[in-house]
Amino acid sequence: MNERARAENKKKRQLGAPFGIEYVAMKKYVTLLIAAGICAASLSCPGCAADGRRTSYDIKCAYDAEKGVLGGVCTVNYVNEGPDTDALEFNLHANAYREGALYGPVSEELSGKAFYDGPDYGGMEIISVTGGEWQVCGEDMNILRVALPETLASGKSASVTIEYELELAKVDHRTGITEHTVNLGNFYPIACARGADGKFTECPYYSNGDPFVSDCADYEVTISLPDGYSAAASGELAESEGNARTYSIKNARDFCLVLSDEFETLSRDVNGTKVRYYYYSDENALKKLDAACDSLAFFEETFGEYAWPTLSVVQTGFAAGGMEYPALTMINGELDESGAVYAIVHENAHQWWYAMTGSDQINCAWQDEGAAEYSALAFFENCPGYGFTRAGLKNAAISSYRAYFAVYDQIFGGADTSMNRHLKDFSGDYEYVNIAYNKALIMFDTLRESIGDERFFGALKSYSEKYRFKTASCDDMIRCFEDTGVDVRGVFESFLEGRIII
Ligand SMILES: [Zn+2]
Repeated sequence: MNERARAENKKKRQLGAPFGIEYVAMKKYVTLLIAAGICAASLSCPGCAADGRRTSYDIKCAYDAEKGVLGGVCTVNYVNEGPDTDALEFNLHANAYREGALYGPVSEELSGKAFYDGPDYGGMEIISVTGGEWQVCGEDMNILRVALPETLASGKSASVTIEYELELAKVDHRTGITEHTVNLGNFYPIACARGADGKFTECPYYSNGDPFVSDCADYEVTISLPDGYSAAASGELAESEGNARTYSIKNARDFCLVLSDEFETLSRDVNGTKVRYYYYSDENALKKLDAACDSLAFFEETFGEYAWPTLSVVQTGFAAGGMEYPALTMINGELDESGAVYAIVHENAHQWWYAMTGSDQINCAWQDEGAAEYSALAFFENCPGYGFTRAGLKNAAISSYRAYFAVYDQIFGGADTSMNRHLKDFSGDYEYVNIAYNKALIMFDTLRESIGDERFFGALKSYSEKYRFKTASCDDMIRCFEDTGVDVRGVFESFLEGRIII
């Protein structure tokens, strides 16, 4: 949605013009919630809330398909797992879609494809906050900062209620209106994770990679859908009334929805997990469900149990191959057969490497992308019927990496091939993919050849189990390999520091 439409919407809201029945109902609900929030805030004090629990989100929202606007109220009961703090910070990822953002959400390479109807804008506007004095700030208006009425001690909790409005751009990206669906990734203000230094991790929207770091929390999300729409969601459907759907998930580091009035669904049970494939146009839908189910079963056996009762694989408009969220993955609907199968397996691997075992995706992108790439390779090696082989995937990664290196060497007289790099320090998708995906895949395969299958997969399984629901540093990962009794630090370092010749 462009700035003019945005201004018109704002004017209508000031005049009290209705956005639609569902929206009016939601506004009423919002008012009640805010009143309740004020009570909760005034009653709350450090120590009063039940402590030792995880942070929880209670989100009530309504999507107006005509306006392309989602109105929401997000109540966060924040459990302070860091040091004492006088304020809370939330990432407003979706505000990167506004006109004039310093960091556009889509890379230059993908921009033409992603904005399928020409340049378009959206954004997240904070309407009110209860629970403290607030301001929208940060490097790129990407942070909501709420100053608390009193210091929140470590281990204690505070409640904040945020009323907001999300305008969606027409874009095949994480948050946007696509031709067949509505992608609601990053659709609410999410608490910034606390770094090792106790500071809030602010995540400007770098278009390379996945610029998100968040802690696990419990979610209850109610969305009021437009008539005729259905939703794919992180989490399980807990309640359905009229057009309203309530979903819940525990211990997840994010929550995502994809809406459509065209969805068909196939589903199957895998070891107690309901796997669903949502699609709007797919002559081989069963094959995609097979890939989703087979990879889930393989990853459970290889890396440990999957955490949640559902896993939704969703065909949608998405300019890159796909995108991972806890218990939900977006898959680009325009991929060919083998591309779609590959994307499903790669994104499902992210349930282990990102969703369950978190890592710093801003400074060490290889850690989850490389592990996801290598897990996909291991799956295809184990299930040759899908048409990929270990040698084929490894050779493709080597060829691509060498081509990248040669190009950079010719143009710049050398290439920085270090892997622990901030997302903003990649020149674009081409360099990012070759370092975080291809070079990391080559590194993991070299490690496996050096230490053998048993130690290699044992280390990954122990990494998955040890840091489940936590955020692991790259050193944490390396230590899991060292714990198998072999000195692998030199191998890791030669790759990570860019000294190895491939
Ligand atoms: Zn990935």
